[in-house]
Amino acid sequence: TARIERHHYDVVVIGAGGAGLRAAIEARLAGKRTAIISKSLFGKAHTVMAEGGAAAAMGNVNSRDNWMVHFRDTMRGGKFLNNFRMAELHAKEAPERIWELETYGALFDRTKDGKISQRNFGGHEYPRLAHVGDRTGLELIRTLQQKIVSLQQEDFAETGNYDSRLRVFSETTITELLLDGNRVAGAFGYYRESGEFILLEAPAVILATGGVGRSYKVTSNSWEYTGDGHALALRAGATLINMEFLQFHPTGMVWPPSVKGILVTESVRGDGGVLRNSEGKRFMFDYVPDVFRKQYADTEEEADRWYNDPDNNRRPPELLPRDEVARAINSEVKAGRGTKAGGVLLDVSTRMPAETITKRLPSMYHQFKELADVDITKEPMEVGPTCHYVMGGVEVEPDSTAAMGTVEGLFAAGEVSGGMHGSNRLGGNSLSDLLVFGKRAGEHAAAYTDSLTKRPKVTTSDVESAVLTALAPLERPGGENPYTLQQDLQAVMGDLVGIIRREGELTDALKRLQQLKLRVAQVGAVGGRRYNPGWHLALDLRNMLIVSECTAKAALEREESRGGHTREDFPQMNPQWRLINLVCSLDGSGDVHLERKPVPRMRDELIQLFERSELSKYLTEGEITQFDAIEG
Ligand code: FAD
Repeated sequence: TARIERHHYDVVVIGAGGAGLRAAIEARLAGKRTAIISKSLFGKAHTVMAEGGAAAAMGNVNSRDNWMVHFRDTMRGGKFLNNFRMAELHAKEAPERIWELETYGALFDRTKDGKISQRNFGGHEYPRLAHVGDRTGLELIRTLQQKIVSLQQEDFAETGNYDSRLRVFSETTITELLLDGNRVAGAFGYYRESGEFILLEAPAVILATGGVGRSYKVTSNSWEYTGDGHALALRAGATLINMEFLQFHPTGMVWPPSVKGILVTESVRGDGGVLRNSEGKRFMFDYVPDVFRKQYADTEEEADRWYNDPDNNRRPPELLPRDEVARAINSEVKAGRGTKAGGVLLDVSTRMPAETITKRLPSMYHQFKELADVDITKEPMEVGPTCHYVMGGVEVEPDSTAAMGTVEGLFAAGEVSGGMHGSNRLGGNSLSDLLVFGKRAGEHAAAYTDSLTKRPKVTTSDVESAVLTALAPLERPGGENPYTLQQDLQAVMGDLVGIIRREGELTDALKRLQQLKLRVAQVGAVGGRRYNPGWHLALDLRNMLIVSECTAKAALEREESRGGHTREDFPQMNPQWRLINLVCSLDGSGDVHLERKPVPRMRDELIQLFERSELSKYLTEGEITQFDAIEG
């Protein structure tokens, strides 16, 4: 029998990005023994890569900003499919979460009068992103880690052991959640370096595992992002919501091929960068959709005036929500007006002095210099869409982040959770999301453990089966090659479930995913358990596959175009579809089951934050009649 290291905690947090660290801090502050698990090195999560900033309506740069404006922008960005309660909590609590980071030791960039500075970003009406140059995520992670160390020092002073209440397990992958009936009882996984198994028994588990981008070849996501948390949730009986909505960020690098997909931050456009096609035309003016026409400039002159006088001019169309800009770039390239490498040009060199560029966008300057040998103070960048963020995710109860479905004791926060961003996330709303809901997850997981009269127990047979599943690829050294399988999966998702979708292709994708499922069941890994990336990938594949199936199924079902889901055969938004969430679960035989559920109705005082003329673009006639009735 395999040796298994056993631990007992009150709360286990899977993921050490912003959501996981913020959740762990809160659980520890509530006095819970808390473990943090991270698949990669501690500190290396997507959160650390976040560049632009964290959106919070502090009103420091434009005093007209407040939570209601932020709420409206978030709902508009998500095309009104957002879980309104999450969007409300997020808009209300984000400023406090940012302030709190400064009490932990963060230092954001400042305005002239010493307040936290805020920058413009797509879809945000006022400058709203608290930032540290273009390295905001680094400051966020650094601060949260520092807070964890300081709590560990307090624990040391009291108990003589730094790890007594808060312990980090890095380079450790969780492969299974273990249940006692319908209650979470623990998490099982392995140390990546030694291949040894670890079992953490705990009545509450918080998923904070981030995204799914690695199912696509062109992606800004790094190797860890294989939808593990999404799949763990499904297998434990939780549900996923709206998995058809993936964000293709408009600006990833396109050249050279080895770096294709790496992110070019939206701050480049927020700070004045413009998009041009190969004919030199600033094409975004041709792509302003009707629903946004009132807020966006229709001439270059007005757009340029906006940077200095935002109160009397409308914003440049380069700052439309990401889905709009990504589709526009895709259309330009398709129409033959792209660059040779298949991108368009993003230019700051003719818009700002070189020293401003290197001061405001230092990471971008270095990224292009080092990776592409392009000096962005002198030449434009070549950019194109890249798979960046998943709006869909674990369906949660908004206030507590508790996972819906049949499982108890499971919570989810950050990118792995769904609902908050509707069909499209605004830039900057992820860093604030993970602080707001990370804190809530920690708090509610702690309260849940207090409410239990009996601790759930892990069964020996469940542990044995987790061991067998984990070892299976190693018993099949001649099995299917995991790297080939990942490439084949990426080809299916990129070619058939990409930025523009069609019924025939989606049906084809589902067929191919079924074939891949049979092959993944035969995946093999050569070598032993000590640091063996082939084995690790073999285990990640089943997660990628199940999550991709949810995406493809939901994409086929939703016969409209909205946010991060574009159907060529149904190019319009359909108000009837706004009433519907698509919810994935696993049935008894492990097959993906898709169900339509009604979108919760927004409370009256929130609906009244919008003008009737705007609502009529999104809502059904029946809903508008109801709105007229409340307005009296
Ligand atoms: P992550 O930070 O992604 O962390 C996930 C954690 O889970 C990691 O520690 C990982 O190792 C761990 N994990 C995963 N699977 C397992 C497993 N099976 N077992 C154990 N651990 C596991 N958003 C903004 O709001 N503003 C920005 O400016 C911005 N810029 C971005 C730039 C880039 C290049 C990228 C990729 C994203 C950017 N985003 C930005 C998005 C944002 O960074 C992410 O959505 C956010 O950081 C996700 O945070 P998280 O805490 O949910 O997960």
